[in-house]
Amino acid sequence: MFRKIEHIGIAVKSLENSNTLFSKLFGKDHYKIERVESEGVSTSFFMLGETKIELVEATNENSAIAKFIEKKGEGIHHIAYDVEDIYAEMNRLKSEGFELIHPEPKRGADNKLICFLHPKTTNGVLVELCQEIQNS
Ligand code: ZN
Repeated sequence: MFRKIEHIGIAVKSLENSNTLFSKLFGKDHYKIERVESEGVSTSFFMLGETKIELVEATNENSAIAKFIEKKGEGIHHIAYDVEDIYAEMNRLKSEGFELIHPEPKRGADNKLICFLHPKTTNGVLVELCQEIQNS
């Protein structure tokens, strides 16, 4: 079950410039910056009530974000939904005919297990599932 929109991901060319822009827009600063080496991205997060906005910048030209910006320009990249059990959701969605981009969840930014659904099976919207990693 999808519980809520966890964050909206926005692809940007320059995290530094966009942090300034979005701070002005929201009237508040980002609360963290995090590099995710495995994805070739740097991210920053803004908290707006229960929902976060994630700005995503490519750190190398092979990153999916670099390719996205090359094709489509800057803009909304994905919508991430909070799920309780990412493995159960991945199985459910697979059996419903959705295409998962990776067969196993990956470690994403912000202490999350994440998984993406291919946009060709979701009306062109890149969907991310994320589950908070419990620190025991
Ligand atoms: Zn995300």
